[in-house]
Amino acid sequence: MATMQNTLSSVFKNELEFAREMDRKDSLNHYRSRFLFPLHNNEEVVYFTGNSLGLQPKSTKDYLQQELNDWAKFGVEGHFLAKNPWLSYHELLSTKMAKIVGALPEETVMMNQLTVNLHLLMVSFYRPTAKRFKILCEAKAFPSDQYALQSQVKFHGFHPKDALVEIEPRTGEYHIREEDIYAAIEQHKDSLALIMIGGVNYFSGQVFDMKSITRAGHAAGALVGFDLAHGAGNIELQLHDWNVDFAAWCSYKYLNSGPGSVAGAFVHKNHHNNLDLPMFAGWWGHDKKTRFLMDSTFVPIPTAERWQLSNAPVLSMAACRASLDIFDEAGMPALIQKSKTLVAYLEFIIEDINAQKGNCLQIITPKERRGCQLSIVANGYGKALYQSLIDHGVIPDWREPNVIRCAAIPLYTSFEDLYRFGQILRKLL
Ligand SMILES: *Cc1c(COP(=O)(O)O)cnc(C)c1O
Repeated sequence: MATMQNTLSSVFKNELEFAREMDRKDSLNHYRSRFLFPLHNNEEVVYFTGNSLGLQPKSTKDYLQQELNDWAKFGVEGHFLAKNPWLSYHELLSTKMAKIVGALPEETVMMNQLTVNLHLLMVSFYRPTAKRFKILCEAKAFPSDQYALQSQVKFHGFHPKDALVEIEPRTGEYHIREEDIYAAIEQHKDSLALIMIGGVNYFSGQVFDMKSITRAGHAAGALVGFDLAHGAGNIELQLHDWNVDFAAWCSYKYLNSGPGSVAGAFVHKNHHNNLDLPMFAGWWGHDKKTRFLMDSTFVPIPTAERWQLSNAPVLSMAACRASLDIFDEAGMPALIQKSKTLVAYLEFIIEDINAQKGNCLQIITPKERRGCQLSIVANGYGKALYQSLIDHGVIPDWREPNVIRCAAIPLYTSFEDLYRFGQILRKLL
């Protein structure tokens, strides 16, 4: 990969005509016109925050309108008579979602919100005993994940200080060395119940080797789950083949499904028929054939749908479906290939400007382990630089204490966007 990127950057040029030529040669370039961009001085912004809230596909409105029309037309009977009957609406999402995360369709379900799903899955997959009770996680994980882990541990009567093993970057470094993860697994192997890590770190953009971490976790006798908020729709995932036990992700970041939209969950097939698993149950996880007999005995669906509690939020699922249809059309392999070239060009542009401006920018995302996000520390500029970028029509985001995050999204970021960003950056530094 290093070789590929070195080859790429030796042919890159920080020139408008070069960027335009890259766009002309890009077979995915036309997808950009299927998204709605915020405007700045009547021009489309350079949108670097698809890792926070993905842009709205133009088709989303039609998908939503369909359900609004059917609701108006059929009322409650829309559950059966709608063009896409609401009773089984969530099933329309599973196959396409499964392809994005490398799962079997029956291993994937869209339901609830991300943090809710993490909790529900930990009910089943964090089952501490007096001897095996620890959870290995990353230090400074996304706050919601930290709160979820701390409260799970306390719920079972343990103290986070004893039960959470947090892996952090070494002093003076910005990302975690994977060897430190394996060393911690080895060190705690007799007391480890669960490994729960963000597959892509939200702050640094570091991608973890989920396959090897899962293997090491299983070898130590622990279960392994990942938060894929920054992974789903961004990097290649093979959750089934990697034998990951469970995962959860949101759909409003890379998956462009709208603010607070319905989240995803993965449970490996190995667990579907384990009736001994403790779980919090609801009627939507009950066997479909007998659900409406309203019997008091819970009969679990033998798929990931077993973890569903409530009937599906169809309006938010409609928005999600609009986006998944686009992903399905473009295909993850092509998107990932473009993503690698885009992020390499973004890096090239930043380094080119940086060299002219005294190297005040430091990209902290590991080159060999990244998706389409670059996290940048702007020494001596800080939040003022972020604010000036916004004022010039570039929308990155700011993460305390000192990081500007930029995500180049293969569905809608153009090479010309990255060139324009470079020109603005040059002016501001
Ligand atoms: C975005 C994000 C969340 C947000 O959680 P919600 O339940 O969707 O509000 C949680 N964890 C990580 C790692 C995230 O990146």
